[in-house]
Amino acid sequence: MGTDSSMQPLGPGDRGHAVADVHAALRALTLLPAAGSAEEASLDEAAYDPATELAVRHFQQVRGLTVDGRVGEETYRALSEARWSLGDRLLHHDPVRPMRGDDVTNLQDRLHELGYDAGPVDGVFGPETEAGLRAFQRDYGLTSDGTCGPATLRALRQLGRKVTGGRPQLLRQSASFVESGPHLIGRRIVVDPGHGGTDTGFTAGETTEADLVLDLASRIEGRLAAAGATVYLTRGRHQDPSPTERTAFANHARADLFLSLHTDAHSSEHARGVASYYYGTGSGASSTVGEQFANLVRREVVARTGMLDLGSHPKTWDLLRTSRMPAVRLDCGYLSHPVDRLLLLDARLRSTVASAVLAAVQRLFLPAEADPPTGTFVLPGRT
Ligand SMILES: [Zn+2]
Repeated sequence: MGTDSSMQPLGPGDRGHAVADVHAALRALTLLPAAGSAEEASLDEAAYDPATELAVRHFQQVRGLTVDGRVGEETYRALSEARWSLGDRLLHHDPVRPMRGDDVTNLQDRLHELGYDAGPVDGVFGPETEAGLRAFQRDYGLTSDGTCGPATLRALRQLGRKVTGGRPQLLRQSASFVESGPHLIGRRIVVDPGHGGTDTGFTAGETTEADLVLDLASRIEGRLAAAGATVYLTRGRHQDPSPTERTAFANHARADLFLSLHTDAHSSEHARGVASYYYGTGSGASSTVGEQFANLVRREVVARTGMLDLGSHPKTWDLLRTSRMPAVRLDCGYLSHPVDRLLLLDARLRSTVASAVLAAVQRLFLPAEADPPTGTFVLPGRT
């Protein structure tokens, strides 16, 4: 797809080459089924049918674009960028026409995971990305040319994801996750809405943290269940289990993953953003998979909502320490911040967060080579 900046929006009823182009992009993202040979033979006949519109809406939703089912400039550009996977082309810094795409996002993400500062993960190959890439190449004995070609890709793939600590049992913990395959079928996931019963958590007008996170947990339950996982919530509306009761529940359910949900609040009205927590002492001992999922879920939420990124942090809370599976607590925004509060009170935002959690869970259980970039993953077969 080109970069024509004066395109007419495409929508239902349109036909022709431009529509065929959109179809090709959607197919590459597995949002449309593969083309039959008959269709490929007649590009002029390619029609913007209801399936196209649905796929475009789906794409717009997961990318955080305005969802109108039409392909205007913004959606066109996003579709173009999403077509690039890491390894499709040589990546380098071009000051005149910076390279953009999901492959750049993926590269930036990987460099960050390996501990290199590659600037913001924004899908644009700028000078900071080049500096981060050169530093990585230098450290790994590659030609430090700032170009991401086959040798650099091979090194990135061999390194896989960052493994904190590197102790053998933790490496094994990682390996068993990688071997488990892409599907969530057979996965047991416990979602823990914080507070409950008489403990309302923070309140914003008539809305309580307890109700908000229960609503969010239900949405997450729906998404994960639709993807084949078995999901349990730790409480109903009127219950308030203790932290150890919550983890005992997850242990008893032999869960593969435990996700606790809270929103935060602060006396300063400026405090806002999304943070995640995993088990760790901050001085070596930590849960590798917990840390990995804490990063994935926080990044997916931040990428899709635009909320402030407050990072992932090791904690020794009972909730994280006494669970026998990787456990993560997500603090999704500040009810005390005017903008975060407005976002959290919007059901659409809570749906977006649920999609982000699904994407993070899928990424956790996917093999590293198949890992899609943040903010883009849709389970094949849902369309
Ligand atoms: Zn709370």
